[in-house]
Amino acid sequence: MFNVHKFTNAEARRQSDIGKGHIAVRDVSITFGQSAAAHLAVDTTSIDIAPGEFVCILGPSGCGKSTLLNAVAGYVAPTTGTVSVDEVVVDKPGPDRGMVFQQYSLLPWKTVYENVAFGPKMAGATRTEAGSVANTFLNLVGLRKFGNRYPAELSGGMQQRVGIARALANYPSVLLMDEPFGALDAQTRLVMQESLLEIWRKFGTTVVFVTHDVDEAVFLADRVLIMSAAPGRIIEDVEIKLPRPRNPDMASTPTYVEARQFCLDTIRAESRKAFEAQNV
Ligand code: ADP
Ligand code: MG
Repeated sequence: MFNVHKFTNAEARRQSDIGKGHIAVRDVSITFGQSAAAHLAVDTTSIDIAPGEFVCILGPSGCGKSTLLNAVAGYVAPTTGTVSVDEVVVDKPGPDRGMVFQQYSLLPWKTVYENVAFGPKMAGATRTEAGSVANTFLNLVGLRKFGNRYPAELSGGMQQRVGIARALANYPSVLLMDEPFGALDAQTRLVMQESLLEIWRKFGTTVVFVTHDVDEAVFLADRVLIMSAAPGRIIEDVEIKLPRPRNPDMASTPTYVEARQFCLDTIRAESRKAFEAQNV
């Protein structure tokens, strides 16, 4: 695992932000297109996520995970219902919601340092302030020495760590992650999962993490929300009772094995239903 410097929670996160990051999704449905071409991507969904909680949204490809996450980010407007963060209705993207995508999270023409300093600069920080924030978060993700490199000069895993630093540099109350490790090889992915948990433990923000990988969801989450096949709805809300800090050895414990099996069974039953519906 990479070396994370010893930040206290208060150093990495503003004291005044602690306790923020409550997400409320209320009866949200999202339809793309009009009339005959209309496609229901998310079907009447309600979710509550507590400040500091780590929630994974798990579901098959095309079920509406990204669409739901994009509604929390403010990139997609719900057709019905509302999303709010800390009781403020979301109607556009904002610095209180950091986003990390599978790819393209970084500006390729800027150095790693400039990528992380960019958000604070846009928010009005001076050069010195933005630089200090960039260094803080590059330290947090273990990449302080790589500030002068360009994204293309880093491995995929390192780029995603810069992406996380960049998202956190705005001091968001919510970190939204859309299959952020999906393009990484299996070994790097495991290291990144542990690293993310370490960063989250220090920074203490709410995390909503989208994945189609059952093991990833169970290993990371306090709660796994399982989505149905399209149109997406939350069909199960599974509490993962594994202690923290998590470590890979927990994968052989009964708690892990049972949670994993339950998620797999739910997804399998759901896929079968979707398959049969296509064949009537
Ligand atoms: P997932 O992330 O679970 O793979 P998405 O949320 O990306 O699924 O997509 C859900 C459904 O909505 C898919 O059928 C997809 O084609 C459709 N969709 C997503 N974004 C748009 C868009 N901007 N316009 C039209 N259809 C879209
Ligand atoms: Mg997606």
